[in-house]
Amino acid sequence: MRILLKLSGEALAGDKKTGFDEATVRKVAVQVKELLDKGNEIGIVIGGGNFWRGRTSENIDRTKADQIGMLATVMNCIYVSEIFRSTGMGTAVLTPFECGSFTKLFSKDRTNKYFSKKMVVFFAGGTGHPFFSTDTGALLRAAEIDADVILLAKAIDGVYDSDPAINPDAKRYDRISIDDVIAQNLQVVDMTASILARDNHISMRVFALQEENSIVKAAGDSFNGTIVDA
Ligand code: UDP
Repeated sequence: MRILLKLSGEALAGDKKTGFDEATVRKVAVQVKELLDKGNEIGIVIGGGNFWRGRTSENIDRTKADQIGMLATVMNCIYVSEIFRSTGMGTAVLTPFECGSFTKLFSKDRTNKYFSKKMVVFFAGGTGHPFFSTDTGALLRAAEIDADVILLAKAIDGVYDSDPAINPDAKRYDRISIDDVIAQNLQVVDMTASILARDNHISMRVFALQEENSIVKAAGDSFNGTIVDA
């Protein structure tokens, strides 16, 4: 199976909320290695919220603010790829813009070459354009590399009909269609990314990163988050 795993930037920070938490990333590495050893191909997109969000920086030009955000995702991918390497996995970090010798430019052919070498491929730098998100970057890459599924690791354990932090009666879906996600504006991923999922028929599995072994479970049958059908 070809899997695109999306991690939020905050997820890397653990309880610290900012920067990196190595113990958290090592738990991710162990699970990704298990999936890799089972013969899956794994691409990874990581957000940048543990460092920077373009839209919340008030006094600087949005385009520049978003460039900083994209670079934050590159830092995140280099960090996580190095932790992965230290556990014996081969990795490559690809970006949609030149970062000198730090990364290589993204292409589908290059991605396939790395997958054939059983390497984990990090898609850093989002879409390479301002006014987008890494959610959209994840859907875009998933479509380009023909991923079978997106595993969406979140702070919350699935998709709810309302915010469970506000509404104690919020109901969690086991399964929901992407059309309903869009119609109800459920923000599983942002709207641009949702439309990409719908138009390219890319299903997503939403689960809590903090739950024990949740990435491995999400790739298998004992999954207990929400499946978003597309
Ligand atoms: N970003 C961007 N284009 C992309 C992906 C990310 O400009 O294609 C920037 C944007 O500033 C964003 C930041 O990188 O706020 C971090 O990305 P993430 O998706 O984590 O941001 P969030 O959705 O939390 O704002």
